[in-house]
Amino acid sequence: MKIEKDPSCRDDFDPKSLSADAALEQIKAGVNRVKGIEKIAIREALNRILAEDIRSRINVPSGTNSAMDGYAVNSADIPSDGTAGLNVLGTAWAGKPFAGTVTPGNCVRIMTGAIMPDGADTVIIQEDVQADGSGIRIDGSTRKGDNVRQAGEDIAAGDLILTAGRRLNPADIGLIASLGIAEVSVVRRLRVAFFSTGDELRSIGEALNDGAIYDSNRYTLYGMLERMGTDIIDMGVIKDDLEALEEAFAIAAANADVLITSGGVSVGEADYIKEILAKLGKVDFWKVAIKPGRPLAFGHVGDAVFFGLPGNPVSVMVTFYEFVQPALRKMIGEDDAGVLTLKARCDSRLKKRPGRVEYQRGILQQDEDGNLVVVKTGAQGSGILTSMSQANCFIILAIDSEGVEPGMYVDIQPFSGLV
Ligand code: AMP
Ligand code: MG
Repeated sequence: MKIEKDPSCRDDFDPKSLSADAALEQIKAGVNRVKGIEKIAIREALNRILAEDIRSRINVPSGTNSAMDGYAVNSADIPSDGTAGLNVLGTAWAGKPFAGTVTPGNCVRIMTGAIMPDGADTVIIQEDVQADGSGIRIDGSTRKGDNVRQAGEDIAAGDLILTAGRRLNPADIGLIASLGIAEVSVVRRLRVAFFSTGDELRSIGEALNDGAIYDSNRYTLYGMLERMGTDIIDMGVIKDDLEALEEAFAIAAANADVLITSGGVSVGEADYIKEILAKLGKVDFWKVAIKPGRPLAFGHVGDAVFFGLPGNPVSVMVTFYEFVQPALRKMIGEDDAGVLTLKARCDSRLKKRPGRVEYQRGILQQDEDGNLVVVKTGAQGSGILTSMSQANCFIILAIDSEGVEPGMYVDIQPFSGLV
């Protein structure tokens, strides 16, 4: 007699699996933009999500000014051939303008950033003039308007500068400051609770006995959430115990926008959590056709969005990056800018069987000609966290791929500061 088996984690092709794209689509459809914005000082707004469009109320630069140290002249005085002499009426400094007017035959000594005096439209740089006492001699090599920055040439009053949904970076903060804006509206922080499940897990400081392991998932999750800028509620390790789990789910649902758990959703283990979630929430358990990280639960517990991630440390990071992160971004209304998929030459041999999308861990480098080259980081097991620690990108192998020979081009996703 032949034993009929359900597909297990060993199999790469599983007809009951959901595709990665379908899973992501369902997750995104299942989360909504949170309500709530706060007005905060721009320094505090670094890495926050802008909740309003920012328009300039001023011209930048506010006045027409000199781009160089030199002499402000009227272009009508520039000779078409030969040279011409001009009197110097005074000096215009940055922050201390020249009060008079540049009349024919005259000019004004001007410093970088100084407002152009009335009557002048051109700056001749000091290296191009001969200064003699109270006058200068110029030639015809400077064109009308040279070395002058026009008012509003960088930003004109009314221009749209930054759009709602942007994650503010240091340049943005400086740009907002350059407009004289002190406070901006940002989306409130998401509150994200998480806990690890498993009787084998120990917290740092506890002794390891009988095959126990230290809980690392709470630390990688903490790091990734911290980088995303969420508020974090770390609920510790919860034993595989019906009552303890049920209590933890209820507390999280009452206090957080999002709950993330790790462990306890794979074949043979899920039943506990399934039983509780059937009571407390609306959750689907999926097998997603990815490696690592096939088992994944998604849904709602009370009002909180719920992600049940697999237990293996690399699977946690892959599923966070690929599924949780885009959902959190949608919840805070963040635009998609910055998520890059690049092509790189792969200098490693990568083993793979068709049936699942694989996220192998890679190190992206440059060869001596400046081309992007990726190599894999050693053993790729889903429990091998060193493979993530050494990596700076995922190498994404499509569902049909049968592996990669050295020299082939692959898709890579740089971690871009999140993982
Ligand atoms: P599970 O999904 O609960 O069957 O866990 C799969 C594997 O991941 C097991 O080897 C667990 O011991 C391990 N694991 C689960 N949770 C954690 C955690 N928080 N930190 C490190 N390893 C974990
Ligand atoms: Mg477990």
